[in-house]
Amino acid sequence: MAKTKMAKSVLDAGWGTLKTMLEYKCAHAGIVFEEINESYTTQTCSCCGNIPVSSPKGRAGLRIREWTCSNCGTAHDRDVNAAKNILAVGHDRLAVGIPH
Ligand SMILES: [Zn+2]
Repeated sequence: MAKTKMAKSVLDAGWGTLKTMLEYKCAHAGIVFEEINESYTTQTCSCCGNIPVSSPKGRAGLRIREWTCSNCGTAHDRDVNAAKNILAVGHDRLAVGIPH
C-alpha cells in the first residue's frame, strides 16, 4: 500500500501508531515524552542557530546528506544536525515546563 496513491495515509497511520506506543511506553517508564515540530530542523545549523544559504532546502535539498554551514563553517551530517536541533527544541520546551 505504501507504493499506491494511498501511501501518504498509510505511512501517516504508521507514525500515529508509533507515537501512541512511545507515549504509552514512556509514561510507563516515567520518561518525559514530547512531540515537537521538526520544521526547519534540517535547514538550521545546530552550531550557530542560523539558516544559512548553504543548508539543504526544498526537494532538491533532499539528496544532500552532508553540508557545511556558510555562516560558521561547521560541517554537518544532515540527520545528526537535524537530531541536534530537535533535541534543542525539546530542551527549550522542558526549560519552560511541560503542561500536564
Ligand atoms: Zn552555522
